[in-house]
Amino acid sequence: MKPAPFDYAAPTSLDEAVELLAANEGESKVLAGGQSLMPLLNMRLARPGLLVDLARIPGLDYVREENGAVVIGAMARQRALERFAPAATLAPLLAASLEHVAHPQNRNQGTVCGSLAHADPAAELPAVALTLDATFRVVGPNGSREVAAKDFFVTYLTTVLESSEILAEVRFPAQAPRTGWAFDEVARRHGDFAMCGVSTTVTLDASGACRDARVVLFGVGATPIAPRAPSRR
Ligand SMILES: Cc1cc2nc3c(=O)[nH]c(=O)nc-3n(C[C@H](O)[C@H](O)[C@H](O)COP(=O)(O)OP(=O)(O)OC[C@H]3O[C@@H](n4cnc5c(N)ncnc54)[C@H](O)[C@@H]3O)c2cc1C
Repeated sequence: MKPAPFDYAAPTSLDEAVELLAANEGESKVLAGGQSLMPLLNMRLARPGLLVDLARIPGLDYVREENGAVVIGAMARQRALERFAPAATLAPLLAASLEHVAHPQNRNQGTVCGSLAHADPAAELPAVALTLDATFRVVGPNGSREVAAKDFFVTYLTTVLESSEILAEVRFPAQAPRTGWAFDEVARRHGDFAMCGVSTTVTLDASGACRDARVVLFGVGATPIAPRAPSRR
């Protein structure tokens, strides 16, 4: 199938992109890597009147270390993160999850922020963001705000992003010393979306006692889920 007709804009600054989204509120969509949006358009499950492409905005494709955190701009491809060697030391859970995200061809195009903004409940990166307490920098007509991962995902394919807001950056803090981790999923074939998956960390204190333990499940509900143990009586 082919998409319904739409207009296309390629702004050259974030401010211009936000203005375009705000001027066409509810009728416009951000285009990043297109790996989820283009199939939705082709199947006519989405029919935006205007696509606002972030690809021509300079300086959004960074992956860098800042004060020990892995910081990723809106147009950084998943492949760029995969090739960012310090991630394996700073946030090995994040680095290890990437090979489960689709296929290399998709990761060459798909962005980290696009996956988070798309919020597919079976996606790997939202679960890792929740496990590691990532922080999202969102820009919109009223300026910039920070959102914690635990507050970002609302339900299926829905986040707290307003229709004229852009996820400009995500920040994954470094995993604390003495942190063990595991990431696994069940998929029909490698590269398919997970039927279910799990992302975990356990942090010990200096005496070897457990200081913090995280378990986040994905593919089992409307958002990534951090189940709580029943309280002891
Ligand atoms: C064959 C195939 C297999 C796949 N398998 C997996 C898989 O196993 N696991 C997985 O997680 N994903 C998978 N994907 C999806 C892939 O990871 C996408 O790249 C990702 O979900 C979206 O990133 P994108 O940059 O392509 O975003 P786009 O497709 O460009 O956009 C997706 C949505 O997010 C919005 N958006 C994008 N960027 C921003 C932003 N910065 N601010 C605000 N809104 C934004 C868009 O408006 C749109 O609604 C697969 C895709 C394909 C085609």
